[in-house]
Amino acid sequence: MAKTTKRKKKQTYGCDNCYEKGYILEKQGRYATAKVCQCLNCEECSGTGKKLYYKDNGYSYIQPCDLCGILHKNIKLYNLAGIPAKYYNVNEVSTFHPRHDTHQNALIYVKQFVDQYPYKPGFLLMGASGLGKTHLAICAISELTLERGIKCLFTDFFDLLNDLKSAYSEGRPENQVIFPLVEAEVLVIDELGKGRANEWELSVLDQLISKRYNSSKSTIITTNFVTKEVNAKLNRDNKEILEYRIGERITSRLFEMCSFIYLEGRDFRRMSAAN
Ligand SMILES: [Zn+2]
Ligand SMILES: [Zn+2]
Repeated sequence: MAKTTKRKKKQTYGCDNCYEKGYILEKQGRYATAKVCQCLNCEECSGTGKKLYYKDNGYSYIQPCDLCGILHKNIKLYNLAGIPAKYYNVNEVSTFHPRHDTHQNALIYVKQFVDQYPYKPGFLLMGASGLGKTHLAICAISELTLERGIKCLFTDFFDLLNDLKSAYSEGRPENQVIFPLVEAEVLVIDELGKGRANEWELSVLDQLISKRYNSSKSTIITTNFVTKEVNAKLNRDNKEILEYRIGERITSRLFEMCSFIYLEGRDFRRMSAAN
């Protein structure tokens, strides 16, 4: 059989349905998912993303398609990131609309984080619920997976605690739960501090954060709690202090890994419900 020669040409795709991106985002069960847009009409691989190559000795091997293999790989990464279904249309930083100066500053940081990845530290967004903290975190990982091919993972802190509780009661090692979280190049922990963690769970969180710190991996956090310093300025109840929820040790480690950004403002969802 004739040897396939690799032709160097650029696959073009893009239509109004996919905003010239080549992928479509949708909801599937609990998660947001991506799929190849039907405008991708790759003549090299018939749109499968894989191609059979032949060696001179007659053996064949399968490799990603030269032309659209990266698009397929990035879509797969997005589908493995565990992004909640309700954020399926949040695929890039431009989908966030700031409603306050502090939101604008947060947006600028997130944009720089994505553009300069992996050279800018991760970030921790703190402030009331309903200000778009999770939205911003998901903008970052959606863009990093779909446009840059970076392995990212989203986890909800409350779900993480539940997974740890199940592992503990089933006698499984906690490493099984935290391994994928340690391994991801960029990890989002959403709603840090939500739900009361016991001492053992906090020690597992400490391990997770330390391992990511030691391997210089970027971590993105959102939390409705604020640091002592911010709380002192706000003159609020101590119940809302991050250090009291997750401990001084983990908080100070996060200070070393992340830029802390406070988003001001009231919950816009509640305000519009009241109006
Ligand atoms: Zn299209
Ligand atoms: Zn192809």
